[in-house]
Amino acid sequence: VTEQPSTQVETILDLLRSEGNRITTSRRMLVEALIAAQDHRTAEELTGEVQRRAPEVSASTIYRNLDEFERLGIVEHAHFGHGAATYHLSALRHGHLVCNECGSVIEVPDEIFKSLIDKAKSKYKFVIDPHHFAMLGHCTACSANLSKVI
Ligand SMILES: [Zn+2]
Ligand SMILES: [Zn+2]
Ligand SMILES: [Zn+2]
Repeated sequence: VTEQPSTQVETILDLLRSEGNRITTSRRMLVEALIAAQDHRTAEELTGEVQRRAPEVSASTIYRNLDEFERLGIVEHAHFGHGAATYHLSALRHGHLVCNECGSVIEVPDEIFKSLIDKAKSKYKFVIDPHHFAMLGHCTACSANLSKVI
């Protein structure tokens, strides 16, 4: 389903309105930045993108907006190893395989975690959230380089 970016912006702004939020410049621009990105952005990067267009919006406002968006289920964040958390639209839910060496990210569907999730649940009654943290390892190129060294 490929919606036009402008329709996506309006859909999210409608959701915000229905939750009683005023559509301020910072909220609108944050939504636009997230949709334009179609990818992961740290809070700092999103702040930079909004402030390039609206320098008067403070970083703390944008961080607060991100928290609100997360509570409303519009965005979610994930951790890719040691760096800052990255945000993306919840509509794009998926897991991440991140290379320890070069930092490349492979986005994967939830099915890939299914047997792990099922086993953790049946054996340990533990419910795994496969999105919050990335699975770390080595991509093809980096594991090829590693095996050359070893
Ligand atoms: Zn977190
Ligand atoms: Zn790599
Ligand atoms: Zn992702």
